[in-house]
Amino acid sequence: MTNVRQRTPTKVRHVLGISGGKDSSALAVHMRGKVPDMEYFFCDTGAELPETYDYLNRLEAALGKPIARLNASRDFDHWLQVYQGTLPSASMRWCTKNLKIKPLEDWLGNDQAVSYVAIRADENRLGYVSTKPNIKAVFPFREEGIDRDGVSAILDESGIGLPAYYEWRTRSGCYFCFFQRKHEWVGLADRHPELFERAIEYEDKVKYASTAMQGRQYTWSQGESLRDLLARRDEIEQRHQAALSRAANRPRRNLPLIDVLADAHDDENDEAGCAVCHL
Ligand code: SF4
Repeated sequence: MTNVRQRTPTKVRHVLGISGGKDSSALAVHMRGKVPDMEYFFCDTGAELPETYDYLNRLEAALGKPIARLNASRDFDHWLQVYQGTLPSASMRWCTKNLKIKPLEDWLGNDQAVSYVAIRADENRLGYVSTKPNIKAVFPFREEGIDRDGVSAILDESGIGLPAYYEWRTRSGCYFCFFQRKHEWVGLADRHPELFERAIEYEDKVKYASTAMQGRQYTWSQGESLRDLLARRDEIEQRHQAALSRAANRPRRNLPLIDVLADAHDDENDEAGCAVCHL
């Protein structure tokens, strides 16, 4: 008789990434209790806003579970050297790849995993879908028809509310994120002058660092250095106020301030955010 060895079925892990933004936080609350062995994680670039760390602590208390902090084995400065002094940008997003996606994929290894992604029903973007065959993405908000209002309701009802940075910035992520709008850089200078200074130091450090740039300067914000941007503070604020008025006066139902802010694009701010970092 052939001895057939019993194979232990591989346990599938259920993981939910929290970016520090409202949608992924709302999804974490929404899934609370529905998937008992859910593992929450946060990929910490080491350059997150202090408000994000505070919010994660509040969220952890509400979830009654720890949020695993995943740190990349090599930090931003290491990768900046590897990329020869090229600051990351929307078209060269090495920061997301090395500081957000890689730590997650290392953490999961070859485990079979279901990854819960917080793309809302009213969004037309994909979110993080791993190319690794052992990681399957699912989209509960999209499947259940939960939109922007639904997300707000989940956060309000749970008592968690929004992260404090939403007072001046509409996206989660690194303090130096190049997806920041011009007026958000001004907000960073006002709220966290030491972080704004650190971002300037990066610009100074990488000035002319790459031969590929042939003498041109790398900047975080498109088209100008942070020093120049701050010198235009009044103009940037005027444009922002005008964009806010336009967004508030659009023929739609009354929107909460956070949604008006999110919709208030002026002609200097047209980049869509990162579908990994800004959820
Ligand atoms: S938040 Fe911005 S700077 Fe930070 S990893 Fe994501 S895309 Fe890069």
